[in-house]
Amino acid sequence: MVRPGGSGRSFKECRDSAAAYLRQRGIADAKTDAWLLMEYAANIDRSFYYMHMYEEMPEEDREDYRNLVIRRGEHVPAQYLTGEAWFYGRSFRVNPDVLIPRQDTEVLVEEALKRIIPGMRILDLCTGSGCILLTILKEASVSGVGTDISPAALRMAELNRKRLKAKAGWIESDLFEKVGGRFDMILSNPPYIAAGVIPELDPEVRDHEPRQALDGGEDGLDFYRRIVREAPEYLKPGGWLCLEIGYDQGESLRSLLREAGFSSVEIIKDLAGLDRVAAGCLGPAPDQKE
Ligand code: GLN
Repeated sequence: MVRPGGSGRSFKECRDSAAAYLRQRGIADAKTDAWLLMEYAANIDRSFYYMHMYEEMPEEDREDYRNLVIRRGEHVPAQYLTGEAWFYGRSFRVNPDVLIPRQDTEVLVEEALKRIIPGMRILDLCTGSGCILLTILKEASVSGVGTDISPAALRMAELNRKRLKAKAGWIESDLFEKVGGRFDMILSNPPYIAAGVIPELDPEVRDHEPRQALDGGEDGLDFYRRIVREAPEYLKPGGWLCLEIGYDQGESLRSLLREAGFSSVEIIKDLAGLDRVAAGCLGPAPDQKE
């Protein structure tokens, strides 16, 4: 059996045996994660590693590293172990109270940015780590509010807001429940996994990410039905609703949005060619306005 921290003591030996251990435990990106956790445990970067890889890794760091590698071997996501995830080129703090920001969600950010005009007021429902709203506030001259039902998630969003020096407000609210006023754009990456599919997800997601952030009810569409139905009350005329969706939810969202009176409805694909974002405009399409 390969030992998680390794039998050797050099940085390289520790890293190599950690990678072998993780591979043995069925971790897909064993090598990358062994590296990432070493960087974190020993507080080193790549250039330090290559200059000192044959030297002894300090005992205390070795101990930390061993513990992190064991937990990664139990399928705890690496981002929860290091407390950090990257999204749209920025670092976000994460913990098990929030979903780990996904690269797929960058498509939602991009589609929102295409439709944004400076000065707009943005609402982000189910903000979690705040990654969507905070990224948009850094990329465009707009103001914004994020909501989440989880106070613990909002604490993480606030921590990220401070680190990024962004101006966002937070409301603890079940979707629109505590929200007032009207917005130019409503964004959300709500929970959208069909409840029955959750047992089949990767253990990293199923056993470690907040179920509340994943479970979209029997067909995965519960949150979209509520959001699409209530959004018109919170959007200015011509305002946009942009939602992240699952790969098989495009047609359902197209119908939901059209039935609720949205125009310019578009279903946009991610880099893998799968449906990922649904967008619609309240009332006449913007180019049809006077
Ligand atoms: N808005 C957050 C994100 O995109 C959280 C989404 C969620 O919890 N479903 O990461």
